[in-house]
Amino acid sequence: MEDEEGPEYGKPDFVLLDQVTMEDFMRNLQLRFEKDRIYTYIGEVLVSVNPYQELPLYGPEAIARYQGRELYERPPHLYAVANAAYRAMKRRSRDTCIVISGESGAGKTEASKHIMQYIAAVTNPSQRAEVERVKDVLLKSTCVLEAFGNARTNRNYNSSRFGKYMDINFDFKGDPVGGHIHSYLLEKSRVLKQHVGERNFHAFYQLLKGSEEGLLHKLHLERNPAVYNFTRQGAGLNMTASDSDERSYRAVIEAMKVIGFSSEEVESVHRILAAILHLGNIEFVETEENGLQKGDLVVAEKVLVDHVAELTATPRDLVSRSLLARTVASGGRELIEKGHTVAEASYARDACAKAVYQRLFEWVVDRINSVMEPRGRDPRRDGKDTVIGVLDIYGFEVFPVNSFEQFCINYCNEKLQQLFIQLILKQEQEEYEREGITWQTVEYFNNATIVDLVERPHRGILAVLDEACSTAGTITDRIFLQTLDTHHRHHPHYSSRQLCPTDKTMEFGRDFRIKHYAGDVTYSVEGFIDKNRDFLFQDFKRLLYNSTDSTLRAMWPDGQQNITEVTKRPLTAGTLFKNSMVALVENLACKEPFYVRCIKPNEDKVAGRLDEDHCRHQVAYLGLLENVRVRRAGFASRQPYPRFLLRYKMTCEYTWPNHLLGSDKAAVNALLEQHGLQGDVAFGHSKLFIRSPRTLVMLEQSRARL
Ligand code: ATP
Ligand code: MG
Repeated sequence: MEDEEGPEYGKPDFVLLDQVTMEDFMRNLQLRFEKDRIYTYIGEVLVSVNPYQELPLYGPEAIARYQGRELYERPPHLYAVANAAYRAMKRRSRDTCIVISGESGAGKTEASKHIMQYIAAVTNPSQRAEVERVKDVLLKSTCVLEAFGNARTNRNYNSSRFGKYMDINFDFKGDPVGGHIHSYLLEKSRVLKQHVGERNFHAFYQLLKGSEEGLLHKLHLERNPAVYNFTRQGAGLNMTASDSDERSYRAVIEAMKVIGFSSEEVESVHRILAAILHLGNIEFVETEENGLQKGDLVVAEKVLVDHVAELTATPRDLVSRSLLARTVASGGRELIEKGHTVAEASYARDACAKAVYQRLFEWVVDRINSVMEPRGRDPRRDGKDTVIGVLDIYGFEVFPVNSFEQFCINYCNEKLQQLFIQLILKQEQEEYEREGITWQTVEYFNNATIVDLVERPHRGILAVLDEACSTAGTITDRIFLQTLDTHHRHHPHYSSRQLCPTDKTMEFGRDFRIKHYAGDVTYSVEGFIDKNRDFLFQDFKRLLYNSTDSTLRAMWPDGQQNITEVTKRPLTAGTLFKNSMVALVENLACKEPFYVRCIKPNEDKVAGRLDEDHCRHQVAYLGLLENVRVRRAGFASRQPYPRFLLRYKMTCEYTWPNHLLGSDKAAVNALLEQHGLQGDVAFGHSKLFIRSPRTLVMLEQSRARL
């Protein structure tokens, strides 16, 4: 095998381990990592360890080495997976997807970028202009999405704070002709508040630090992020060690141009970001001045209202009124204005800032989609497009305090794990059938019961939460928790302090715990109802819908409703998320999947150090050992005959250096007979199926002895 590596680099596929124990797994992972071999297979699943340093593994030369090759011909690599997905799509017209998972900082987004670069590099040999345009947009979209959707966190200096699924459409020639991005659950609470050591979304700092003086002046901004409540916390922090906000700002503007954002649109985006920063500095005080009643509110620094009104192109007095009061329908159709308390006004201001940012982000995604939509294609004339989907979505999260966001993210991981189980079983079964081999089903842990706990109609956690949200005002987080306790007291994956009074790791009336497939997580119910309801006063929606800035206005189509029409409750955040997860899983399930499982080697983001405990935990919850076992249980290994010969032909006189036996299948038979191993295998049409790992181990040993 070209590029074949010796035993000092460990096993390139975990299936080849002598025994499947955590120790053996970790030893192999460590050995390979020490030699900068960050990629290892489990069958066709790629395990990747973040090296935290630039390794000479990427770029045009490396791409050329993988282009058009089979998965096994070269050392494990992302390019091999990208290539396999691409070839399956092109040769067999199969829609494929690449699912990338792993915890924050494990390297998912970097992996997705390498995959995109590979696809861009190997397509469009005839340089068609439209295809080049689509590729440019695909590649540049990452930079723009990262500006608005990524932030520096303690775990990752460029952490994606949203889930992303991107479809790339290919024509019959195998060239990209369009694409579509779905985004999931942006962490919008970050707009208001960040943990110590963390920052708001990159876009704010890029604008403050990177824009020219004239623009800042027009936006009434000061350059120093410490001036603004929303950016003060992260003010002293750089974006990353290697990227500066100034440079990124220019790159983002350039990328927006390439994608096709007009200069008016870019200006609107700037104004919206600035308006959010000003909004964040608005504070409310009670006053008796100017003929107002005692207890009436005013904005402490009135010039901020002027700025917000100017930047959002809305009337000043309406901005002020929307901040200080809400319109309610009293009795029949009569509308009255009800003044806010300081707490209500602050809450409304924050809800507005979050919502404006979220709509901005979603608009950016839609705008990119609008230029990537496959143009003028007619399936009858052009043939059906095939699709490669790339999923880069948040991994399992456990923090000291876990809230609604972690609950959604971990539910998402349960869904994806379930899909992984189903697809792997399905795939195996299909393969055995295709190859004419009989086999027996393998049993393994199915997390369906945990998914059911969350999403079951009427009694599932999300349904109970929705019920609590629809009951006006009176239901508290605590009552929500009590209802959960009643419904799930016997569920094997649910507990709370009420149900386990001796368990001091949970607090009475505040915490519940889910036994996830990846480990136990304790959630604090504080804020669950509020975050799920995700309420914004209609006054703000109407205000922004009436903006004379057409870009901003387009983000608020629901602002045209009158207060009397807004009787139907909008779907809650939890239900919207559940629906998007169900759709995602359905979409992935009908594609041929490839998996990249990313591992973060240490918590300190340092190169060359693999902390064993830290990795062991990830290996456990990603289910990698199970994965190896399943792969080996029916048949430990399946290999196309040429691949098998490439690896083992040197162990048999009839096959070394080349065989004269008519077919590769006959040659493999001769080799196995010489080793006395032919009883442990089945001969498929194109592949050899090896039942017991011991056979593989023996073959590996005879290879090592040479
Ligand atoms: P999150 O869930 O927080 O978005 P992530 O899994 O997407 O995390 P990345 O942003 O892809 O993580 O990676 C984190 C950092 O690790 C990168 O900014 C980069 O510095 C480094 N890194 C990741 N993969 C590689 C790689 N293959 N080579 C070199 N450095 C890498
Ligand atoms: Mg990421």
